[in-house]
Amino acid sequence: MAARIIDGAAIAKRIRAEIAAEILAKKVNPGLAVVLVGENPASEVYVRNKGNAAEEIGMRSWTHRLPASTSQAELLALVKKLNTETEVHGILVQLPLPKQIDAQAIINAIDPAKDVDGFHPVNVGKLSLGLPCLKPCTPQGCMILIREVLPDLSGRKALVLGRSNIVGKPMMQLLLQADCTVTAAHSKTKSLPEECRAADILIAAIGKPEFVEDDWIKLGAVVIDVGINRVNDPAHPGKTKLVGDVQFADAMARAGAITPVPGGVGPMTIACLLRNTLQAAQLLR
Ligand code: NDP
Repeated sequence: MAARIIDGAAIAKRIRAEIAAEILAKKVNPGLAVVLVGENPASEVYVRNKGNAAEEIGMRSWTHRLPASTSQAELLALVKKLNTETEVHGILVQLPLPKQIDAQAIINAIDPAKDVDGFHPVNVGKLSLGLPCLKPCTPQGCMILIREVLPDLSGRKALVLGRSNIVGKPMMQLLLQADCTVTAAHSKTKSLPEECRAADILIAAIGKPEFVEDDWIKLGAVVIDVGINRVNDPAHPGKTKLVGDVQFADAMARAGAITPVPGGVGPMTIACLLRNTLQAAQLLR
């Protein structure tokens, strides 16, 4: 039987509507400041999408565009200014940053209470301790997608492929908190296909187009494809298309449920960013 497709776009729309309703009902007026340094085309798209999504639900947002030549001191000065602005409840500095800037130093400078990406060491530490905090948006979105098809995660075997600070590691923390038995897989993992085949929940976050093959997937598993990879489109010579880290068409025959790319995790990341901004505004009041 073909896998159920987990419609991230529809679920994200529902979450955005819930946030919009909460903004109206609770009379909060959240504000999100997004900082973009340089002209990375993918970052341009992400920043535009974040601004549009905020505007659609009645959330104030400001985009600060800085040239690629911006120094670390200049960016730090902007972050410090945003930390003090009472109208700004969420600060997001779009990564990657130009090479003259130490990204971790910038993240460290963001007020943890306004760190809507959940990357500040204070929020990372709180997440690992199971304390309330602003949680990274992509893993938070993945958890919502998983629960949509698998409400009780207790005792399930989950494998997270990829161990980055922004996706893989926080993903593992959230799955552990949901009482999953979690395996962390990465580029040094031995017998990766066998490891994947044991997983009831497989999260692929490595950034390698269609890397995960269908026979790595346990029959009936929930597959969450975080990867966003631009590749040449053989059906339209000269054009490109987006694919995930999983061979989607073949995986459909084995998985119980699977997220598409695009339209799976991507919209959820933005919805969770708005959610975090609302949460930050409520806590900062
Ligand atoms: P990183 O490059 O930071 O991390 C990649 C991880 O994958 C590393 O842990 C690396 O292992 C592992 N890896 C790389 N190659 C292999 C391999 N051959 N076998 C096993 N593991 C491997 O990536 P990110 O976490 O930032 O992003 C991953 C993907 O998710 C990208 O496609 C990105 O675009 C996408 N993404 C999507 C988002 C969304 O909203 N949908 C949001 C954020 C990211 P090691 O540590 O050993 O080097």
